[in-house]
Amino acid sequence: MKEKNGHLYLLGGMTVLLLLLQIFLISKNHLESGWDMQVWSRIAGKDMEISKTETKKIALTFDDGPHQKYTPMLLDGLKERNVKATFFLMGANAEKYPEIVKRMSMEGHVIGNHSYSHIELSAVREAQACTEITKTNQILTEYTGKAPEYIRPPFGAWSHNLDCVTSMIVVLWDIDPLDWKCQNTDQIVKRVVPKAEENAIILLHDSYETSVEAALQIIDKLQKENFEFVTVDEIILE
Ligand SMILES: [Zn+2]
Repeated sequence: MKEKNGHLYLLGGMTVLLLLLQIFLISKNHLESGWDMQVWSRIAGKDMEISKTETKKIALTFDDGPHQKYTPMLLDGLKERNVKATFFLMGANAEKYPEIVKRMSMEGHVIGNHSYSHIELSAVREAQACTEITKTNQILTEYTGKAPEYIRPPFGAWSHNLDCVTSMIVVLWDIDPLDWKCQNTDQIVKRVVPKAEENAIILLHDSYETSVEAALQIIDKLQKENFEFVTVDEIILE
């Protein structure tokens, strides 16, 4: 009797496995997004080997904003695609458009410091550099309720001995399509997409319509290549 039960269990187990295999084969063609993959992994449990598509992290960063017209346009496009980005804001522009800064923060984007008036921080006296940075931090903290942790120095020019910002993390970039210079959507997309790789940081500027359009096209293209757009903290702190 015991043995018979054993056989029954085995038979039952095999049926379940066959059913799961069938579900797997049927669903296989539909499994494209990471979400579907996760659901499937949970159904199947750990015992089944599944070739899971790995996503590669990549970050979009936007400097010099906010811009009255193009930043909200970009925020709409990011929201539609459920993508979070990182914005390095100029204090002077943030002061002009506090509502846009608040929206960025509320929608989950990371906000960093890009100095108050876009000066070359390494070319001025320390006191002036520190004023530019701390003033911007104060403005951004007031609008978002969070003190910025990241700074991108204008022109990438940074002096390492600024006492006022020892706790801030400097974020540079890997891919720079010179979007502000060419102001041509196709060209920007072509300069970024082939260079995309895991953990790369892309530099763009949300003060141009061409850059905003390019950013959204870059997202659509790279998401199809299994890239996942994240904020810089997810790349830097790993
Ligand atoms: Zn800049």
